[in-house]
Amino acid sequence: MGFEAFLGNSKAVTAVREMLACGRVPGALLFAGPDGVGKKTLALMLAKALNCQKRLPGGDDFCGECPHCRKAEEFLTASREDLTRRRESKDAQKRTDGLLYSISS
Ligand SMILES: [Zn+2]
Repeated sequence: MGFEAFLGNSKAVTAVREMLACGRVPGALLFAGPDGVGKKTLALMLAKALNCQKRLPGGDDFCGECPHCRKAEEFLTASREDLTRRRESKDAQKRTDGLLYSISS
C-alpha cells in the first residue's frame, strides 16, 4: 500500500511524489484546504515515505510493510480515532448549546 491508497486530489499527490522522486523535499510544506480533503493523511503519507526503509523503485512511494511504515500507520490510525472523538465531542457540544438556547428562549 502506498500513495495509490489516497483517494482524490491527484494533483497534490503527484506534487508530493515528484518531490520524493527527485529527492528534493522542502523543510516545510503547507497542506491547506477544506475539512475532509486529506491534508493530514497526505502529510502522514509523506512522512511515511520519507522514513520508509524500503522505499519503492523510483523513490516516490513507501512500502507500507517495514517497521517505520507500520509505526507511522499506527500513528495514522490513532489520529483518525482522535479526529472521530473530537468530531463527536464537537457534535455533542452543538447539541448542548442548542438545548441551552431552547431553554433560555
Ligand atoms: Zn516502508
